[in-house]
Amino acid sequence: MGSARSLVRSLRRGNVCGVCKEDFPSRSALFKHIKATGHAMLKPAEEAPKGRKKKR
Ligand SMILES: [Zn+2]
Repeated sequence: MGSARSLVRSLRRGNVCGVCKEDFPSRSALFKHIKATGHAMLKPAEEAPKGRKKKR
């Protein structure tokens, strides 16, 4: 009926690694995996190298 839906639901949970698509039972588990493997997803962080180039 909807095995695909189940998958989507699992992904929608938010406990899925964005790099290897591994799903985890809990957020802490996902976090642990990310920390252990360095599978951190690219985020629009505000860690921009400022002052390197002259903005003018
Ligand atoms: Zn991963």
